[in-house]
Amino acid sequence: MTCLEAQSNIMTFIDRKLPDDKAEDFVNHMMHCKSCREELEIYYTLIVGMRKLDGGEELPKSFKTELDADLKRAIGRVRKVKRFKVSTFGVFFVAAIIGLIFYYGNILTRVYDHEQFLIKEAQGPSYFFDFFGENIDLCDTDFIEDAKKVPPPVEITNYERIHKYVLKHPRPVTEEQTTTEEEAHE
Ligand SMILES: [Zn+2]
Repeated sequence: MTCLEAQSNIMTFIDRKLPDDKAEDFVNHMMHCKSCREELEIYYTLIVGMRKLDGGEELPKSFKTELDADLKRAIGRVRKVKRFKVSTFGVFFVAAIIGLIFYYGNILTRVYDHEQFLIKEAQGPSYFFDFFGENIDLCDTDFIEDAKKVPPPVEITNYERIHKYVLKHPRPVTEEQTTTEEEAHE
């Protein structure tokens, strides 16, 4: 901030209307530039003194102390805002990091799942039991061993076959038969 800029801001400073982005530069300039500081002190004493007299207030014992307090207040407000900005940034930064970790973790899980799926796919249908559950028809029968246990077919003669058929299908007894049987009996 140049001396011209600093001095042009003296009135706004006294009115406590100095914007935050100018306050720090202004205070710094007033701390280090003797001529501007003198200018500020003169204006401050004049204007603040006049306003206090107008308002019927008591004049301060030292305008210099009051001015120092005002300068500190101006810079303190800026620092508070800055600290808030830094902490807000910090919170967002941490949140972003956590978000990234979750996102990355999620991607890792998905890649892992996909690889597991590929492995299972390569291993054949019985490995999909986790996926299909009871719907998959897992068969643990050893057909070759079972086939050995089946007894060889028994050879039967035609006579036996007919005999079995007759036993299963008895001839229905007709009226004609019963009468002839009765006749024969007599
Ligand atoms: Zn200056």
